[in-house]
Amino acid sequence: MSLYNIGKRVLYRGFPNKSSMPIRHYKVLSIETSCDDTCIALLEKNDSKAPPKIIDQVKSTLNSVATGGIIPTDALRFHQTTLASLIETLLKKHNCRPDLICCTRGPGMAGSLSAGLQLSKGLAVAWGVPLIGVHHMLGHILVATLPKSEQPDLTAPQYPFLSLLCSGGHTMLVLSKSITDHEIIANTADIAVGDSLDKCARELGLKGVMLGRELESYVNSIKQSTIQKFDTMETKESNLNSFKYKLGLPLKGPRREKYPKDIVFAFAGFLSSIQSYKKDKGGLNVVLDQETREFISYKLQEHVFDHIIDRMNLAFTKHGSNKRKYEHADGKFLGVKDLIFSGGVASNQRLREKLATRLQFQDNDGEVTDLNLHFPDLSLCTDNAVMIGVAGIEIFESLRIKSDLGVCPIPKWPMDSLLDVEGWVNVTPEEYNQVIQNK
Ligand code: AMP
Ligand code: ZN
Repeated sequence: MSLYNIGKRVLYRGFPNKSSMPIRHYKVLSIETSCDDTCIALLEKNDSKAPPKIIDQVKSTLNSVATGGIIPTDALRFHQTTLASLIETLLKKHNCRPDLICCTRGPGMAGSLSAGLQLSKGLAVAWGVPLIGVHHMLGHILVATLPKSEQPDLTAPQYPFLSLLCSGGHTMLVLSKSITDHEIIANTADIAVGDSLDKCARELGLKGVMLGRELESYVNSIKQSTIQKFDTMETKESNLNSFKYKLGLPLKGPRREKYPKDIVFAFAGFLSSIQSYKKDKGGLNVVLDQETREFISYKLQEHVFDHIIDRMNLAFTKHGSNKRKYEHADGKFLGVKDLIFSGGVASNQRLREKLATRLQFQDNDGEVTDLNLHFPDLSLCTDNAVMIGVAGIEIFESLRIKSDLGVCPIPKWPMDSLLDVEGWVNVTPEEYNQVIQNK
């Protein structure tokens, strides 16, 4: 029997109503080790209706500059050497023993995930507290329920809402109808946007970790007068600019149907465009002069983000609810008022600017609706443990389930089968009260 059925059958039996219940200040340790960042956070929940408070968070990242990419065994070893002592220091600093542990269970690299999950199980046994194995992407979504420093008046998103998740490993537009009901509206057909930006930046000679962020800084350092000149040059054909660089928007060729059956993103072509250019200029090791690097960097970043906007607007016209304006619209997005942007790439200011000004969302009155756009704080966009704690707390409080101690990492875990995996068990009322209720 799937856990979902178990959950549905006994859910809420014997539990007080969540919103009316006085809750004690309970503390949560959260751990995120899905890739190359060792992240931990300590959260506190002291109000059943308010989001958790962040007490502290720490992040340490594997340095992969020398290897030019993340080697999974290096990432595993990094977590093994780093995680336990980071936790010890954090708990000593705050002199506390948490009441709940939330840890990323997937998707991600098997070894990296298992480093965090195994330690979490050990702590759950030692402290006698529940463990919640969290879906990483649910964390990226639910982090938008925390207050945002640049949007202090924006209330938390309400279901149904949309999320654009753009990170090093994923690029998805997701429709969420509840904490357990997520539909992937658009996915990437090849590589993720962050992966593409990282690889392109490396081809352009940039160095460091988080090369997408390095590319943003590099583009920001270009003189305004040079940008104005670049803006007058097209790249659709190589003879339209003096650099002879060709770059168009992916998937813009003629289509037989008005809307493709599946809306996809495609980011691999951006890397090929740079590689072909370098090959034409003498080979992959050719060193490009500064102006050429600036031109390609600028045009590349603009096109990558324009492609995201283009695909999202296509999804809005396909699934928007405005049947009068778009005869094919299927109304799938009916009732959507909130749109979340999360994942490392969503911290890019130029992308944020474009998203805020270029998206066109239609509602069922035939008007272009202003969606509430949610931009989580920059430090909460890239991988972090706070988001895992926020999602784990929501799973624990709303669904009243936890992970059993036999759970294993799920390196490939589709968002639309959050509960449809082994390892979820119901939390008993006694266990629940022990964590959450005033004694
Ligand atoms: P995540 O997988 O969510 O931790 O995000 C990491 C990815 O986001 C990497 O590919 C980074 O290069 C990319 N990234 C982080 N910050 C930025 C930024 N400001 N602009 C573009 N990409 C970024
Ligand atoms: Zn992520």
